[in-house]
Amino acid sequence: MAHLERLVNMRPSFTPRLINDPFSDPGLFVPFLFEKRALMFDLGDLHALSPKDLLKVSHVFVTHSHMDHFIGFDILLRPFLGREKKLHLYGPPGFFDNVEGRLAGYTWNLVHEFEGDFRLKVTEVHPSKTLTREYSCRNRFSSGEAIQESPFTGTLLRESAFHVETVVLDHRTPCLGLALVEHFYINIIKEGLKDMDLPMGPWLTRFKKALHEKWDMESRFVVTWEQGGEIVKEKGFVLGELVKKIAAISPGQRVVYVTDIIGSPKNFEKVDHLARGADHLYIEAAFLDEDRETAHHKYHLTAKEAGEMARRAEVKAFTPFHFSPRYRNREAEILEEAQEAFRGEG
Ligand SMILES: [Zn+2]
Ligand SMILES: [Zn+2]
Repeated sequence: MAHLERLVNMRPSFTPRLINDPFSDPGLFVPFLFEKRALMFDLGDLHALSPKDLLKVSHVFVTHSHMDHFIGFDILLRPFLGREKKLHLYGPPGFFDNVEGRLAGYTWNLVHEFEGDFRLKVTEVHPSKTLTREYSCRNRFSSGEAIQESPFTGTLLRESAFHVETVVLDHRTPCLGLALVEHFYINIIKEGLKDMDLPMGPWLTRFKKALHEKWDMESRFVVTWEQGGEIVKEKGFVLGELVKKIAAISPGQRVVYVTDIIGSPKNFEKVDHLARGADHLYIEAAFLDEDRETAHHKYHLTAKEAGEMARRAEVKAFTPFHFSPRYRNREAEILEEAQEAFRGEG
């Protein structure tokens, strides 16, 4: 049986990358492939990103407000001032205070001179509800606007091409685990239709359905020409041949970001649920297992625990990050310990 994955070059519609090396502040930058847009997980040191990259960011998900995850707030804000743009921020309980505290650190007396009104839309994620409030630059970011309350559903953002899920984890403070879930999506290439002399029409709905239902790529597919609801002509094709010429497909990958949590049974269970079968798991590995006690005191994972979590959730690939600086010269050991646990050795 011929599979879709092997026949066409399925390309993810976003390309995540860690912003810094694993010893520096954590953070994931997620630019979109076909759009000048990006998402961001955590707001640590952002100096590695250009203002052009920063301006692509539409939604930021902050796991928790420890300094190494939030110090980049000002750097991100800077290029947005004066632009007619909206930036969405999500964070744990108490996040309004964190954001307002940072905004209160500056003088905003000349902002009415700015051409565009930049707006910040901030959402606090609680275990049973979310609270959202907006701040306008023109109003000097005053917190006058009403707070909207919604029930917690586990999904923070939903668009046609993707959604972002969260679980609230334990870091001796609530800490958000995050999953970016791309939807399996079929784009019809208009030039391809033209090259093959095929019409637009209801057969394209059948074509997309065949791909969703995972038909064998060698099966025969009939294209129909219709006029006024009547079929006036039809022609059979090998489905896979048609796919290669007229379809661009995003594979529907799942990318998970987990950092700053204790290796407790409850966290293990929640990460298992969030990361189940993920294409890529980015997970902290702050300490070596020889320092497990310190890791537990500081509510962090060891490399071994990170690898075990990745193994248990049966992820396809994982990247450990957020290493304690004490291991500057022992990076290979951390990676080896995590990989061993992932393979189920040791
Ligand atoms: Zn941290
Ligand atoms: Zn932390």
